[in-house]
Amino acid sequence: MANPLPTLDSTPLTVRGACPHDCPDTCAMLVTVENGRATRIQGDPDHPVTSGFLCAKVNRYLERTYHKDRLTTPLKRVGPKGSGQFAPASWDEALTDIAAKLNAIRTSAHGPQSILPYSYAGTMGYVQSQSMDRRFFHVIGASKLDRTICATAGATGMQMTVGANLGADSEGVSESDLILLWGTNTLTSNPHLWPFVLQARAKGARVLCIDPIRTRTADQCDEWIAIRPGTDAALALGMMHVLFADGLQDDDYIHPRR
Ligand code: SF4
Repeated sequence: MANPLPTLDSTPLTVRGACPHDCPDTCAMLVTVENGRATRIQGDPDHPVTSGFLCAKVNRYLERTYHKDRLTTPLKRVGPKGSGQFAPASWDEALTDIAAKLNAIRTSAHGPQSILPYSYAGTMGYVQSQSMDRRFFHVIGASKLDRTICATAGATGMQMTVGANLGADSEGVSESDLILLWGTNTLTSNPHLWPFVLQARAKGARVLCIDPIRTRTADQCDEWIAIRPGTDAALALGMMHVLFADGLQDDDYIHPRR
């Protein structure tokens, strides 16, 4: 169902949304809006995975959004680099200055490829994350950045093993007989998976943690395997060897019918 449009009406509206942070959990949110201003934020209790949860930083999102010290204009450096001297500037002034500098570089002997946009995701969303900046820098002919800063190794691994970068099906985890939490501090950085882990365990599943560090997740598992840093690949290859040597592999999964 489409969200109602926030208006300046004093009747409170509830707007459904999802957390915009660069966090794969994308918690479902309910935001109350009165007189065009958000007055309350809470997790959506009806969401099947995030179940009303918002982490500490997003629970206090409104305080940050409306904080009196929040920057509301661009700041322009007015002293030497590193001196920390800045003065407020209007958006027109900031955009005019930046455009003049980019144009000077673009038309110089070095050409537009001497501009490298260096960024990753930050706040997600169709506009902020990966759309308008790509179009802009493409139009001016800037260099392209291979954005491997953050999650590329994980995404490539998922594509090679599962076929798409989708992550594990959280609700399917509760049907597992054995759960390997490998290099993940699930309780801290993927808390929505944990209830499904506990559901599986209640049905008899074993939960193992493979991590050099005894994290709070490792403490909660049936077994903690404290491998030495950098030995994951050796352990994975050893496990693969045993799986194939003993005929334990799932052939239907490995060779799906086309
Ligand atoms: S855990 Fe926090 S940052 Fe992550 S999606 Fe939920 S509210 Fe956002």
